[in-house]
Amino acid sequence: MAAVQRISCSVCQVSYNQSYWHQHLFSNAHKSAVRARGLEEGALFQDGIILHTTSENIAYDVLFAPTSEFTAAAAQESLSESADVSATIESFFQHFEAGIKKRIREALTLHGAVKVNGSLSIILRKLDIDGNILHMNKSLRTKSEMILCGTELDDWVRELVRTLLTKYENMPEKGSNWSLSHIVDFELHISKFLPLRGSSFIPLPPLLYSSPASDNSEKSCN
Ligand SMILES: [Zn+2]
Repeated sequence: MAAVQRISCSVCQVSYNQSYWHQHLFSNAHKSAVRARGLEEGALFQDGIILHTTSENIAYDVLFAPTSEFTAAAAQESLSESADVSATIESFFQHFEAGIKKRIREALTLHGAVKVNGSLSIILRKLDIDGNILHMNKSLRTKSEMILCGTELDDWVRELVRTLLTKYENMPEKGSNWSLSHIVDFELHISKFLPLRGSSFIPLPPLLYSSPASDNSEKSCN
């Protein structure tokens, strides 16, 4: 049996068994540590903060966290009954779209093909029978998808937003009157695409089959 690999978190200064690694990256403790460091270093949240890079440089995880003013404005909006959740989620991604595409392009330049998934952390709210406001954390996660040089990132981001909205609408909490209070952050997990040994066929995303390349469209990498 192979030795259990341990990965050490450079931010938290703690090492973890590989199987707990993603759990650690998703933990609030790790994210707060990263955010604190990002603030210290004056990092631009717009470009996303690197949560972690593996030693082999095959993957990285990026956190897109709004500034507190952005969150406060969104929370204020959602206090009204007519709060438009899709507008809130769409404006969040409009704010971070350039950063998200930049980070994916960086990874594509290194690896040519990557697998990407995301996790949107949100806070839900509802009133209890005594009129108190209750809050709850929730994560909306997307499945891992392959992105290649040539994938239209604009379309990919649009599809990502649509998927997250659908997940929000279908979450079981909606049935018990929970609704969006505000968005905490968005984590982007990017890893190198490793084809299985012996397999030479790499499927292309449908867009490459269906749409002719246009000269003025934005390419993910060269
Ligand atoms: Zn950590």
